[in-house]
Amino acid sequence: MSEESINKLISIQGNIKKISNIHNNKPQVICVSKTFSINKIRPLLDYGHLHFGENKVQEAENKWTEIKKENKEIKLHMVGKLQSNKTKKAVEIFDYIHSLDSIKLANSLKKRELELKKKLFYFIQVNIGDEAQKAGILVKNTNNFLNYCKTELDLNVIGLMVLPPNDGNVEKYFKNISELNFKLGLKHLSMGMSSDYEIALKYKSTFLRIGSEIFGPRV
Ligand SMILES: *Cc1c(COP(=O)(O)O)cnc(C)c1O
Repeated sequence: MSEESINKLISIQGNIKKISNIHNNKPQVICVSKTFSINKIRPLLDYGHLHFGENKVQEAENKWTEIKKENKEIKLHMVGKLQSNKTKKAVEIFDYIHSLDSIKLANSLKKRELELKKKLFYFIQVNIGDEAQKAGILVKNTNNFLNYCKTELDLNVIGLMVLPPNDGNVEKYFKNISELNFKLGLKHLSMGMSSDYEIALKYKSTFLRIGSEIFGPRV
């Protein structure tokens, strides 16, 4: 039962190898373990997987503090919305933040980096569909925001991140954000989940955020 997640991961890695050989990239799989207990995650840790994703600071702290002490190679990714008042704990526990989406948040993260003497890797979340209710920097503001984060704050921004609108046009959004990422000279791209990671690979995603395809449905 618990080995099921390993089989799923191996099968995904196989698909990635097939597709990436054509497109010549080597993407990393982030196992998004939000809502799942450490018991469910343990087989993947024992198998040697190192990149995991969570979407809540408190949950991440509870689940990962001890495990990260035991294994310093583990990389923890924040993939959910991050409030500016939770940045201290976030900078303590996470290695990557995929949801950098406001100046206020960027300023707060910088302050915590200095306090804790720790540098993280960041993705700027882009609101690619210009959706009113969705988090993320608007496409037209992305260049300015990136410049601010890099030049003013010296944050290590490595790429863009996208959660595409659910309107059946995933491929178009992935293509657009991949082009924007390239234009901005960014090396990494956080794009693709269980349902669309194969399309994301076609457009040069380097970090796939995969949850339910590995762990099963969230309860
Ligand atoms: C939950 C989550 C994922 C994983 O979603 P699945 O469809 O289960 O693969 C990826 N990215 C973000 C931002 C998430 O919140």
